[in-house]
Amino acid sequence: MTRIEEERQNKLKWKLAVCERVDEILTKREERVYEYITRPTGSPRYEVTFAENNFVVDIGTKHCSCGLWQLEGKPYVHAVCVYKSQNKDPRKYVHKDFLMTTWFTVYSHFLEPLRGPMFWTKSLYPDILPPDIRVLPRKPKRCRTKDVIQRMEEAEK
Ligand SMILES: [Zn+2]
Repeated sequence: MTRIEEERQNKLKWKLAVCERVDEILTKREERVYEYITRPTGSPRYEVTFAENNFVVDIGTKHCSCGLWQLEGKPYVHAVCVYKSQNKDPRKYVHKDFLMTTWFTVYSHFLEPLRGPMFWTKSLYPDILPPDIRVLPRKPKRCRTKDVIQRMEEAEK
């Protein structure tokens, strides 16, 4: 209960629309944009080149030929290149699960405080006890038990 409230207070200080972890990931991807070449094709589809490999990014359907954008829900570096070439913030194009508004919706229900055991009503039924411990059958011991003389001989060595 305390942890959820502390987390809520921390989240209220957060100014971005996406979660902190997603913001870190997208920031790292933005730092790698200069390694890629982005070419518009006159449609919502772009060609992104990296090390002689071409990737097709469709910003209309949020689809990349590498498949990571569809898998993660966050624009992978290919899509980040496209959004950066358009001077757009890739944080606006993450899946709604990563938005702070979703986080606040999920944790909008509070845990109600409880009164102590002194205020609880006594049950009419007997207390519930743990079950008896049952000894399960075991495999017999494989090692032979050494007798006293053998143990004394080993101790003398
Ligand atoms: Zn990709």
